[in-house]
Amino acid sequence: MKQCFGYVRVSTKKQEEGVSLDAQRDAILAFAEQRNLTVTKWFEEKQTAAKLGRAVFNGMMKDLRRGAADGVIFHKIDRSVRNLSDWDAVSQLPNLGIDVHIVTESIDFNSRGGRLTADILAVIAADFIRNHQAEVKKGQLGRLKQGLYPFRAPIGYLDNNTRRTTPKQRDLPKRICPIKGPLVREMFELYATGEHSMRSLMPEMEKRGLRNHAGKPLSKHGIETILRNPFYTGLIVMQRSGDVHQGIHEPLVTPSMFKQVQEIKAGKAGKKVTRHNHLYRGLFRCALCGGPMSLERQKAHIYYRCQQSDCPTTTVREDNLEQEVRSHLRALQLSEEDQAKLMQEWEAWLAKDERLAKQRSVALQVDQIKARLERLTDLLIDGTLGKDEFNTRKQRFALEMREKQAELQKATIEHLNAHEMQKFLELMKNLAGLYACAKPAEKRWMVQEWFSNRTVDGRTPCLKPQNWLQSRDLGQLAPHVKQHDPLFEPLSRISK
Ligand SMILES: [Zn+2]
Repeated sequence: MKQCFGYVRVSTKKQEEGVSLDAQRDAILAFAEQRNLTVTKWFEEKQTAAKLGRAVFNGMMKDLRRGAADGVIFHKIDRSVRNLSDWDAVSQLPNLGIDVHIVTESIDFNSRGGRLTADILAVIAADFIRNHQAEVKKGQLGRLKQGLYPFRAPIGYLDNNTRRTTPKQRDLPKRICPIKGPLVREMFELYATGEHSMRSLMPEMEKRGLRNHAGKPLSKHGIETILRNPFYTGLIVMQRSGDVHQGIHEPLVTPSMFKQVQEIKAGKAGKKVTRHNHLYRGLFRCALCGGPMSLERQKAHIYYRCQQSDCPTTTVREDNLEQEVRSHLRALQLSEEDQAKLMQEWEAWLAKDERLAKQRSVALQVDQIKARLERLTDLLIDGTLGKDEFNTRKQRFALEMREKQAELQKATIEHLNAHEMQKFLELMKNLAGLYACAKPAEKRWMVQEWFSNRTVDGRTPCLKPQNWLQSRDLGQLAPHVKQHDPLFEPLSRISK
């Protein structure tokens, strides 16, 4: 009785029907019994057709060439090969005296005709797989263009696929997972404070209950993957090609939050993050000798010391520096009147703004196209217009409409900046309060951004606020609105 290997493979879950591993195995066993063969060892593979490197297949081929069996039994040719180079390896086996059996095809590998038939079947199988891959890609691109993500949902989102997925369900956007979604958002927020590293997020997120797809706590790599995935802002970016698609799923984080996280990440790359960064480390210099102030902890207090031994500036306590910062901020805040006045000016400026006029005119054009489209449909219904002519014109309108809608969206986004101005003025009204409840990283940012000169003279802290911060002029303030995006989050925290 000749000893044979049995090889079974499923490529995707969908293909299991009718040719499940068990069904393949049964067919092979029945075949073996008829031919008086025994199956001494099974090789089993579950992989998608496209994935490279089939360890099981390669291992089996190696064993066969070593003479570990007299032959091998496949279920079908398209189950045995994924591509022609696989097939080439299989078709070499008879030359080495190893039998190749295929259950569904009676092929005599020892005859020229039989081998030709097998070769042709293999070519067809390889072509089928290639075509299948192309079809899959085409389908994916179509979904991407609709704003759908045709892959597994990232952590924090849910697929709409269930075991019995109808095509309709598959075309739904990913949903935010009610449990993991908010946790992912928290993770972005935590990292954005600057008080966390990827490493310190690991135990923190584990404690809060965030798990990966396998139900395990996230690794550092897993955390990094989430923090750099723009999917969470609503975009779909293909990693390999870099293609960007506007997703239709609900975003978990704002673009400004995402940007902040990327900036912090970039700033931290290569640098070691110490969790307890002293508040003003590196921010103050000695006013007398110009040297940096170094940090010193004594008992309960933190001191900043001039490093020159003969300098009259010795040390200053961190609380004193902080007090100085606070009193400056209180003096710099916008008053209610200032805010109202600036808001009025801003609105007046906006009203004049060409963008608003543009927005209105584009909206009007969209309405006009809609009306024309309706008239066109009437013409079709009463028979004035043929179906072909109708379709051509409709397509032209649809294209025009999409262009206009994109224009309108752009104008609207630019207009949204007006809200940012409002928030910014709100922020300028609350400088001291904002500082008081800010996290350390935010405090550092404020001191750095708002004071151009930070020194210590003897024991006296000296701070010079930026000119724009002292001005009550819209033209000077406006360029700083964008830069203050990161503080809108803490601002919403204190206004709660
Ligand atoms: Zn000094």
